[in-house]
Amino acid sequence: MPADPSTTKRRCGDCTACCDGWLKIRIRDHDVYPGHPCPFSRAGQCAIYEERPVDPCRNFVCGWLAPTSPLPEWMRPDKSDLIFLPASFVWRTIPVDVAVAVGARPKAKARAWLEAFSRDTRRPLLLQSDGDWHANGPPQFLTDMVERLAAGRGPWPSV
Ligand code: SF4
Ligand code: SF4
Repeated sequence: MPADPSTTKRRCGDCTACCDGWLKIRIRDHDVYPGHPCPFSRAGQCAIYEERPVDPCRNFVCGWLAPTSPLPEWMRPDKSDLIFLPASFVWRTIPVDVAVAVGARPKAKARAWLEAFSRDTRRPLLLQSDGDWHANGPPQFLTDMVERLAAGRGPWPSV
């Protein structure tokens, strides 16, 4: 979902991670999810770029592309194998960051960077790897997330 280049300093470049099915989205009556990339994504290009939907395509800016991104350059989603979604939901008034895996799991270096960032900034993090969610944050956050997942509720409504 390449954002309007005028709104960001960074560029998506060759990355198409958000069009490739790692995020669960719906595009013109097509469900997009792991194993089912957007049908309009062709050879790294959006076949309907000029007419792509506002939501999510035009509005979406991942946490790496965002102008205020704390992520280093090397963590572009197609290189780090994760899509960072900052402040995806709120837990007890605290914003929670979510990292969605691109492929089976994020690169080890990227996961380590993000977990250290979560610790240092005291921002709870939910990170997806090998089909599971891994919570980082205060003990009560971990407990709440385990309960939430055990109850069959996803950690975040749109993932
Ligand atoms: S419509 Fe285009 S921008 Fe939107 S998800 Fe599909 S390929 Fe990406
Ligand atoms: S995941 Fe981020 S960097 Fe990659 S195409 Fe989407 S918005 Fe651009």
